[in-house]
Amino acid sequence: MSAASPIPAEAKVVVIGGGIAGCSLAYHLTRLGCTNVVLLEAAELASGSTWHAAGLCTQFVPSYNLMKLLRASLDLYGSLEEETGQSVDLHRCGSVRLAATPDRLDEFQQRASTAALLDIPVEIVGPERLGELFPLVDPVGVLAAAYLPTDGHVDPTSVTQALAAGALAGGATIVRSVPVTALECSNGGWTVTTSKGSIRAETVINAAGQWSRQVGRLAGVELPIVPLQHHYVVTEPLPEVAALARELPVLRDTDASFYVRQEGGGLLVGPFERNPKTWALDVVPEDFHGRLLPGDLDQISDVLVEAGRRVPAFADAGIKTVVNGPDGYTPDGRCLMGPVPGAPGLHVLAGFSIFGIVYGGGAGRYAAEWVVDGQPSDDMWELDVRRFGEYARSTRYVAARACEVYEREYAIHYPEEELPAGRPLKTDPLYDRLLAHGAVFGVRSGWERPLWFARSGEEPHDRYSFRRGGWHETVRQECRSVRGGVGVLDQTSFAKFEVSGPGAAAFLDRLCANTLPAESGRIALTQMCTPAGGVECDITVTRLGEARFYVVSAAATETHDLAWIERHLPADGSVSLENVTSRYGVLTLAGPRSRDLLGALTNADVSREAFPFFRCRELELGMAPVRVLRVSYVGELGYELHHPLEHSRYLYEHLRTAGEPLGLVDFGYRALESLRLEKAYRLWGPDLSQAFTPLEAGMERFVRFDKGDFIGRAALLRQQEEGPARRLACLAVDADGADPHGYEPVLDGERVLGYVTSGGFGHTVGTAIALAYLPVAQAEPGTDLAITILGERRPARVVTEPLYDPANERLLS
Ligand SMILES: Cc1cc2nc3c(=O)[nH]c(=O)nc-3n(C[C@H](O)[C@H](O)[C@H](O)COP(=O)(O)OP(=O)(O)OC[C@H]3O[C@@H](n4cnc5c(N)ncnc54)[C@H](O)[C@@H]3O)c2cc1C
Repeated sequence: MSAASPIPAEAKVVVIGGGIAGCSLAYHLTRLGCTNVVLLEAAELASGSTWHAAGLCTQFVPSYNLMKLLRASLDLYGSLEEETGQSVDLHRCGSVRLAATPDRLDEFQQRASTAALLDIPVEIVGPERLGELFPLVDPVGVLAAAYLPTDGHVDPTSVTQALAAGALAGGATIVRSVPVTALECSNGGWTVTTSKGSIRAETVINAAGQWSRQVGRLAGVELPIVPLQHHYVVTEPLPEVAALARELPVLRDTDASFYVRQEGGGLLVGPFERNPKTWALDVVPEDFHGRLLPGDLDQISDVLVEAGRRVPAFADAGIKTVVNGPDGYTPDGRCLMGPVPGAPGLHVLAGFSIFGIVYGGGAGRYAAEWVVDGQPSDDMWELDVRRFGEYARSTRYVAARACEVYEREYAIHYPEEELPAGRPLKTDPLYDRLLAHGAVFGVRSGWERPLWFARSGEEPHDRYSFRRGGWHETVRQECRSVRGGVGVLDQTSFAKFEVSGPGAAAFLDRLCANTLPAESGRIALTQMCTPAGGVECDITVTRLGEARFYVVSAAATETHDLAWIERHLPADGSVSLENVTSRYGVLTLAGPRSRDLLGALTNADVSREAFPFFRCRELELGMAPVRVLRVSYVGELGYELHHPLEHSRYLYEHLRTAGEPLGLVDFGYRALESLRLEKAYRLWGPDLSQAFTPLEAGMERFVRFDKGDFIGRAALLRQQEEGPARRLACLAVDADGADPHGYEPVLDGERVLGYVTSGGFGHTVGTAIALAYLPVAQAEPGTDLAITILGERRPARVVTEPLYDPANERLLS
């Protein structure tokens, strides 16, 4: 490790930043065989946000993949000392998290089920056992607690040093006191300029913590990270602590919003207060190393008073140290990982939002795999930097969302929850109209989208629950109206791209697993696969002309899908790619009467023969030019009306007038979710991802091996020959009022077979539905299994999918 020597002229990978993230990256890169790694640190290792962290390490998060990552961190920290000889001071003292309400208990049960999938022990204990585990607690008002015996805390600086030692032993070079001052992309690589000369690298990873936004700007990209302040205090030694027989577990009082752990002979207490404070929003000072912000006890006193009530020994304790440190937050509180769109060869691992210590180990591994293997070994979509788009560029937006994340750190996180900060940001011309019709909005990719429509006398607000949300009955009505008549849904948020040029057909053909539509006016549903055969994108491709294609995908994947397509563009300029998302509005008509409605708006022949399924026609609907796609995610006769955005309002009003005699209703995304589950249509993200192939997903009819080569073909062919080991199955669940939402274990007797990828209630078929990848033998219809929902074992049966209209008669009618 060098502070004085010149930096090497070349490296395969340059890591910028020597906090826990950068050191973990360097460590894992070398473990993956990439030894030509240079880590550049502006000051000293761990001198950014890492050194002052409280070091808490929990695994209790509401996500299977992230829980797995956190377990990997703790496993690594447990073995680092022996491997590197550097102590990391890991205390696996356990953790207890308090529940004071039934909803909180539901949340714990949900997470405990997910933990069971990963063999992470979780016990839900009563107040008495809580008192044994944490003798200093006043259990008043506590219903129960979640006890995780393998959680704990670690010394952040030591663990960073150990990772650095491991990286050095693996062949990496670490250079300290070298701020990176410029980044230039040229000839398929990067020139990284520092205060001590420059270095060429194939790949650069921005792991500069709260400085990552500035470092990103050196490369012309804007990352959604802002620094927020966070305090904790450490008490003087306490006799109550000295009297303990063993170390206290870390305690989190979720309702009072603070954590407490033992620190030597005293306590360390950290609050997540209301009205958090941002810091250095424009530029983080370059010299803010090994430093803290001034402590502000007024800012946190309310929560500290609560902490004193819950842990009386703290109420009277003398405060020895006040720590106020900044750390980089993102709009959803999860870090940014992976290749940065628009900057080939630039990756990021930053924005840990108060969790960098516990995430650092596992996240470093997945981020290193992304560089070395081209993709992480598990689905990291929840951390993928491409989950954000242009809308998340403004500092004000990121700060608003980040503050909400901070305040709500210990709030109950309900399924299907939609939070208000930074909204409304992106609205289409129908927003006010739909609001006037009772729409309750959610947000995806910055766009406001109607979730459901409150009926007269009903409060247009979400009432959340782990069982059934307050909208359940209204959504049932919407589903019934769509299945029985016709509904309209604003889907303007769809991502839309145009791919054109003389090379467009060959280019898309290589990316898509399905054959492209052969003629103009035809549509194909297709996946774009990774070289390993996983589903990278799930899209429809409409052929508009010999060399012109219209690609539509989900709102959530706009940046992701665009980046994937862009990354493969040929260098010869024969293909052009344009993001036309904001140019077109989309109104979806769905239901058996949608053809009647469409026919009422045009003189064109829209009969089944003239306008069959998976066809596209350019029609005039009233005065509006509309690209009509006959597709349906609802599983009914239906059309997507893609139109110039400026005509949205006209088109909507026109539809409403013409639709009145047909009983046209507005419906929202919650009804869409129920309707698509009844058809077992897969959703990219939960049901389709890099981690699953189309063959496993039961979508082999969209994979055409006979069409010639495409990305992923060889891997898929291999899998087809061997036969996939698992398969997506559809289960009808006897849910008893608590529908599955995702990550619930699926059991055969006591054996865990897999977990629910997505689930909900099918209002037409009258049952809860779950999709889950299961071993092929158990994925057979008729197999009786069980699903653990909120701690209860519920009967579930694999059914012949789809539950609704299995012959697709209604869809094709
Ligand atoms: C008070 C407080 C308590 C916390 N407690 C916990 C906890 O209990 N558990 C937990 O998991 N997390 C906790 N965290 C969060 C954790 O500290 C951070 O998430 C984590 O340290 C971030 O690590 P990093 O490597 O991303 O960033 P940093 O540690 O900030 O490292 C980034 C590095 O990049 C370097 N750098 C910046 N610009 C350049 C440049 N131009 N060239 C070269 N190098 C550059 C910096 O010098 C710095 O060393 C806490 C944070 C705070 C503020």
